[in-house]
Amino acid sequence: MRCTLIMVGTELLNGATLDTNSIFMANELNKVGIKIDFKLTVGDSLEKIIQAINFGKEKNNLVILSGGLGSTDDDLTKEAISKFLNKKMIVEEKELIEIREKFKKLNIEFLKKNYKEVEKPEGAISITNDVGMAPAFFIDGIAAFPGVPKELYNMFPKFLKYYTDNYCENIDPIYIKDIVVSGIPESILEEKIKEFFIEPNIEYEFLVKDYGIIVRMQTLESFKNTVEKIKEKIYNSIGKYIITEDEEKIEEKVFELLKDKNYDLSVAESCTGGMLASTIVGVSGISEFFIEGLVTYSNESKINRLNVDKNIIKRYGAVSKEVAEAMVCGLETKVAVSTTGVAGPNGGTIEKPVGLVYVGVKVRDKIKSFKFNFTGDRERIRRKTVLHSLFELYKMLEEDE
Ligand code: AMP
Ligand code: MG
Repeated sequence: MRCTLIMVGTELLNGATLDTNSIFMANELNKVGIKIDFKLTVGDSLEKIIQAINFGKEKNNLVILSGGLGSTDDDLTKEAISKFLNKKMIVEEKELIEIREKFKKLNIEFLKKNYKEVEKPEGAISITNDVGMAPAFFIDGIAAFPGVPKELYNMFPKFLKYYTDNYCENIDPIYIKDIVVSGIPESILEEKIKEFFIEPNIEYEFLVKDYGIIVRMQTLESFKNTVEKIKEKIYNSIGKYIITEDEEKIEEKVFELLKDKNYDLSVAESCTGGMLASTIVGVSGISEFFIEGLVTYSNESKINRLNVDKNIIKRYGAVSKEVAEAMVCGLETKVAVSTTGVAGPNGGTIEKPVGLVYVGVKVRDKIKSFKFNFTGDRERIRRKTVLHSLFELYKMLEEDE
């Protein structure tokens, strides 16, 4: 089963509102195995909405709209659907009573134009709105929902239940497996793993992110085992570049290992300025293991708080392997991480360009440093430093016996 989504609202086109509704719908549709072929966004124009419905209905049996169901003049979705289907608009007495009750309960005057909220093309089935005013409806393969996210979240699952019960033979949910890799260029990654994808039923794509690349494999639930086998092959081939899977966060994986080993952790940050500590603190339960985070931004702070030898700074510079290692030595916990780098946009030199970052990691008596040449603006360089320092920490914790 396949569908077209139509997002209605001028605010979605002019940049005032980010379309999050289609992301929600995509996730819900995945669960029941309905694929999206097209996603269109149109402004609040009757003509454009009708054009979009025309396009969608030409391509797919199911067309789902969001937005433009309210009572104001720019809400035109219902009119567009009734024009497209050549059906007149009606109001069901029962629904009129219900909406009047809702207004009464909220002490809002029911105006003439509020009738519009319960109007629908003749023959449409309503989907009850437990959290707002206007119900959603479904008619002839066209479903329409309000744009207000919380109302959509309430009604969309109910609609999908109705639709799959009545129009889908057997449900085969879409299965997605994400593997997050880092430190390997996209082209080499592809060379290494494309041979594993010979099955026509498994699609794969690379999603390039700040912190690495997501290898996304998509299939139907019934082919899940095949994906698992491919995953194993990927692990065997490029396992050392794999950071996490699916939604799992690297800081959560670090937390699990700290817990297993009962190690305490502290961090000393220069270029990340607290971002690393903040990321670590985002993990619930970390307070048992995370002792402190120091922002040792200046040379004096590195010398005074971490006992970094000032001669080391003089000789190698604050952004150096030696200083990164000296910083973790200045922390008393079993496990420690340090960051020092040139986040830019100023301050880079030929020898030490913007994006040069050193990370120090200590796990018991083992101390290592890692050099990175990140690209991007100040924010991205700092974010990448946080993720990669956690990744290196994770690997060292894993190696620790
Ligand atoms: P509407 O049903 O068109 O009156 O939309 C009501 C409100 O819902 C808009 O003002 C937006 O704030 C929000 N909204 C509409 N469409 C979307 C969308 N695709 N994603 C997220 N929010 C939306
Ligand atoms: Mg609107």
